[in-house]
Amino acid sequence: MTSPARPRVTIKLRRRAKRNEAQIQQLMKLRKAQQRQRTDLARKHTPVNASLLAPDNSLGTPDFVALGAYIDRPFTCKKCGKLEVWTGLQQKWWYETAKGNVWTTATMCRPCRRNEQARKTAARKVHLEGLARKKKPA
Ligand SMILES: [Zn+2]
Repeated sequence: MTSPARPRVTIKLRRRAKRNEAQIQQLMKLRKAQQRQRTDLARKHTPVNASLLAPDNSLGTPDFVALGAYIDRPFTCKKCGKLEVWTGLQQKWWYETAKGNVWTTATMCRPCRRNEQARKTAARKVHLEGLARKKKPA
């Protein structure tokens, strides 16, 4: 006679343990691959530092936060219609340094934005001068 027969339960348990082990290994491999993909993405693009973002009460998550990186975004200037690229670095500056709202994106090209800022400054100056002129007689 060879070794005594093992109870069926023991065999079943061992098989299940083996299967679980394989599943865990597969999951770990998948997780590692995902992590590698994220670091690759962060290396190739500009990584997001979510702690520097402006506070926002929205329940949603901006796509760049979910992705963990700022990716160059093409956009059309709303003033002149020129096709422009909002680079990852520009986005990082806007969201993390200038504390821009996380749901806003670039809408104007640089020259148009400069013109718009100059126009606003000039308008403000005229407005303030007008106010000063009104106040004088009183
Ligand atoms: Zn433009």
